[in-house]
Parts: sequence; structure tokens; C-alpha cells
Amino acid sequence: MKTTIRNNWTKQEIQQIYDQPLMELIYHAASVHREYHNAAEVQVCTLLSVKTGGCPEDCSYCGQAARYHTDIKVQALLPTQTVIEHAQKAKNNGSTRFCMAAAWREVRDNRDFDRIIDMVKGVNDLGLEVCCTLGMLTEQQAIRLQEAGLHAYNHNLDTSEQYYDGIISTRTFDNRINTINHVRKAGITVCSGGIIGLGESHIDRIAMLLTLATMPKHPESVPVNALARVKGTPLENNAKVDIWDMVRMIATARIVMPKSMVRLSAGRIEMNETEQAWCFMAGANSIFTGERETLLVTPNPGVSEDMKMFQTLGLKPMVKHMKDEACTAH
Ligand code: SF4
Repeated sequence: MKTTIRNNWTKQEIQQIYDQPLMELIYHAASVHREYHNAAEVQVCTLLSVKTGGCPEDCSYCGQAARYHTDIKVQALLPTQTVIEHAQKAKNNGSTRFCMAAAWREVRDNRDFDRIIDMVKGVNDLGLEVCCTLGMLTEQQAIRLQEAGLHAYNHNLDTSEQYYDGIISTRTFDNRINTINHVRKAGITVCSGGIIGLGESHIDRIAMLLTLATMPKHPESVPVNALARVKGTPLENNAKVDIWDMVRMIATARIVMPKSMVRLSAGRIEMNETEQAWCFMAGANSIFTGERETLLVTPNPGVSEDMKMFQTLGLKPMVKHMKDEACTAH
């Protein structure tokens, strides 16, 4: 009998899973993974920053926040044709999903949003599943995106509700939840996860998973990011995330949200093949890759390196389009 999809998890139950001896936890997660997914397949997504830097928000981990002195070059919204060309290349390289990220606090009803709508239509016409991450959205804006063919919207919780104020002061945890609700209501799939290594406790990690796993419908996609320590941001001197913390987080996410795609997102550049293999064993089944070897503004392995790793591990890119699943990260 298949593991039941549950939305009524308690904090204690998730903590019990999270605290299992690591080998037991990985075995448990790997078993659940095989009930709902082909464990030999990994979803390959490409992420493009369509508008970079100059963001008015103060997310302490982000090099795109205007208030931090980082090396990131501000770039205005890319021309639609340039974005379509990148999407075509991503498709040629085996991606089935293409995510466009803009460093905005929120979407405004202006010409830039009209251009995003054109980008969504253009990428959709290529037969790729289109995802966006643009900051906060109103219900009406979510509907416009859905009508243009948007498949998924990324809006990470980042961390627990309790720890949120320590990481971001320019918006609230409730703002995040509101946008996720607007996305859901518009019929767009939800991509939402978080970051570890922000200085949060294990209890915060469990609390974040609890919020995700008790949503009326689990996010179709759950990115698990390890902090990329960007020079010039308040968190630049944080400790490197321990690989076993990452594995523990991925495994717990896999068990409490069995059907979701669990994405091994930021931080891969600091992991060797063996470490990434443990993440796949623990239930991760999605990655970002691409020719540009960046994930927004931080380094990421390139597609040829990833395909070599897939070959070594006996993995293959997921080719089918899973219409009810999401792909993105912001
Ligand atoms: S994470 Fe997004 S919202 Fe926060 S500062 Fe960076 S670009 Fe802005």
C-alpha cells in the first residue's frame, strides 16, 4: 500500500522523522521516493535571471538586494527575444522547464509586466513548461500569468515563520503565504521551499517543513537550497552548510510531501558528486542546470558536468512533462 499523502502533520511527527538516525532516515525517504517517482529520473530545469539586482528588499542572503555592496551587476529587464533564445537553448540542452526570475519586491501593473506576459507566451509556444519568480503577486496578476500559459510560480518561504524577521524585515511571512494562495487560486502550480544555513535552528527547519506539508495542497515543487554565501551580504561569513544537514532536510521533505518534486537547488556547486548522490538517494529528483553555469547570480554546475554525473550515477533527465508539477527557485 502506498504511503498516504497527508496534510495534517504535526510538528512532533515531523520532528520524529527528522531526528531519525541518518541511515534509517535515508532508507525511509528512498522507499517513499520509489513509491511515487521513478528514482532513476531527475527533472532538469533551467533558470534565467531576466532582471538582475537593484531589489528594494533586504533578504540577508541575497546579493541582488540594492542595499548590500556586492559584485553583482544590475541588469534591466532583458529583451523578450533574448529570453526566447535562452529558452530555445535550454530546450536543446534537455530542459523541460524554463524559469524566469526578476529581482522585484512585487509585480507592478506596468509595461514590464506586459513584457513578462509576452515572455511567458513565447516560452510556452516552444513547448517548455514556464515558471516565473517575480516577487509578490495580486490575485489578478496571478490570473493574467495563468492565462498567458504560466505553469508554475516560485515563492519560497525561505525559513520558518518564527525566524523570518531575523532574515528579512521588508516583508512578512504572511505576505509570502498570501502570494502562494493567489497562485493556487489562479490554477498555477506552486513551487515553494526554503534555504538552510541562514543561522536557523533545527526546529526552524522542521517548522518550515510543517508549513509546507500542511498546506491544503502540497507545493508541486519544493526547492531545498543551501545558503550560497555571497560576499557583501550580512550572511557572507555564515558556516558552510553541512552535507548531512542538507540530506536530512531533503529526506524529511521527501517523506512528508511524497508526491512533490524535491529540488536540490542552490549550493550544488560546493558539493562533490558523492555528496549530490546522497541527496538523490534521500529523495531529491530535480535540479537546475544550464550552459551559463550560474543560478541567478551564484555559480552552479554546467549542463555537461551534470550529464557526466548522471551517467556515473545511472540517472537520466526526466523527459516527460509532468503537467501538475512545478519548477523554480528565487
Ligand atoms: S531574494 Fe528576491 S526579493 Fe529578496 S532581495 Fe533577492 S531578489 Fe529581492
